[in-house]
Amino acid sequence: MSVQTAVTCLNFINGEWHPSEQEAVDASINPANRNEVVGYVQKSTIQDLDKAVEAANRAKKAWRKLSGAARGEYLYKVANILEKNINIVAETMTREMGKTLPEAKGETARGVAILRYYAGEGLRKIGENIPSTDSEALMFTTRSPLGVVGVITPWNFPVAIPIWKIAPALIYGNTVVLKPAQETAVTASKVMECFAEAGFPSGVINMVTGPGSVIGQGIIDHPTIDGITFTGSDTVGKRVGQGALARGAKYQLEMGGKNPVIVANDADLDLAVDATISGGLKSTGQKCTATSRVIVQQDIYEAFKERLIEKVNQLQVGDGLQAETWMGPCASESQLNTVLSYIEKGKEEGATLLSGGNRYENPELAQGFYVQPTVFEDVKSEMTIAQEEIFGPVLALMKVETMEEALEVANDVKFGLSASIFTTNISSMLSFINEMDAGLVRINAESAGVELQAPFGGMKQSSSHSREQGQAAIEFFTSIKTVFVKG
Ligand code: NAP
Ligand code: MG
Repeated sequence: MSVQTAVTCLNFINGEWHPSEQEAVDASINPANRNEVVGYVQKSTIQDLDKAVEAANRAKKAWRKLSGAARGEYLYKVANILEKNINIVAETMTREMGKTLPEAKGETARGVAILRYYAGEGLRKIGENIPSTDSEALMFTTRSPLGVVGVITPWNFPVAIPIWKIAPALIYGNTVVLKPAQETAVTASKVMECFAEAGFPSGVINMVTGPGSVIGQGIIDHPTIDGITFTGSDTVGKRVGQGALARGAKYQLEMGGKNPVIVANDADLDLAVDATISGGLKSTGQKCTATSRVIVQQDIYEAFKERLIEKVNQLQVGDGLQAETWMGPCASESQLNTVLSYIEKGKEEGATLLSGGNRYENPELAQGFYVQPTVFEDVKSEMTIAQEEIFGPVLALMKVETMEEALEVANDVKFGLSASIFTTNISSMLSFINEMDAGLVRINAESAGVELQAPFGGMKQSSSHSREQGQAAIEFFTSIKTVFVKG
């Protein structure tokens, strides 16, 4: 594998690389330098998707018959191949969507670890023994794969998210059709090259690129796809859920967040400041678990604000390939424009801009989709920037008097993905654990940490209330079968 530029990525169908039936492509642009084309991505058609789904459907019978251990061997192989190619995959990711190289390497290493984790799951229990009322009978549960699973993924974690869906899908005996975000399909193709090299039976894993409105919608509507796992925005997620429900397919949605950090009067100030910066601004704020609302108790407010601004103003912004860069550009021009329009909205609605708020004017950064790390204060819960997911490097400071008020503000959004609190008081920690409506609650740690062996997912409108990762993944990718045996 090599880092090539301006190559057209093909679809991977039935164990082979295929050009689309249609010649149209999208150019994938380096957001650090808009003049660099990282590669071309096919705008495939429904006919291409049909071929992939047919291949996955043909492959499913033999794949589910293999033992979990045998399926696991394939995942171990992909893990080793991905590990060998970590630098190439990470560099492609940085050039395609802008996150810094250490973050891209960390994400790729996470992909390797996830593959190994699920390879091991092939040997773990998938059911339980339940006492029957008939003392001469045996009753137990086992699990069946869904069949063909459609995987629709966003651009912000172009390696880890496809892998944390594909790996459990495969280990539990499903076959897969991946539709990666068009924005980062060159990186997804690098991952698919690893799957190709691992030599899975033809049709077990397939990838078709193309716009969400065509290939994504095609997955929603396809009668042969038994389950759809989606990560992305809540607008598209709702569409996926409605479409899947309408034709009786199983679905799983992981969507947006508007994640708070609460900083209590008794917090460790340095820890809280560093975690707010890291949780809110790493990856240019483009994580579903990124901190965006910073709810600070009044006695510590001024000291917190002063230290936060001082540190934010020192952050090194630039091309993610350069060693000194701490924060890269927004992933695309449309993402940059969205962030800038939220900043304008914040100002219009009466929030006070403390830092940042603009693009960079120096010629080097003006070539890319860079926005300054931005901090607002005087943000009220009813403001747009306190309610909607911005998905950019924007922090909203909200001052509160009591911890009760802090929790009320923290819960006052439609999302419930991740939340963190900085406090040294055990009662405050317990109230937060009990009363915070979020799928991930983190004490004295940033909102954006996720461990692959633990359940991941949101409450309220952040998810379809299912969980991914760890052993929780088995719930979506299989169906329980209750078995009764009488000799
Ligand atoms: P998005 O616009 O919803 O896109 C997600 C995926 O859906 C892409 O592959 C997209 O394809 C596809 N899509 C678009 N329109 C579609 C349609 N009509 N039918 C079916 N599929 C369609 O989200 P994004 O901008 O890529 O990603 C950012 C969002 O993801 C944020 O809201 C973030 O919070 C969320 N996210 C959530 C998690 C989580 O686990 N909770 C993790 C990461 C990100 P194209 O882009 O190729 O058109
Ligand atoms: Mg790009």
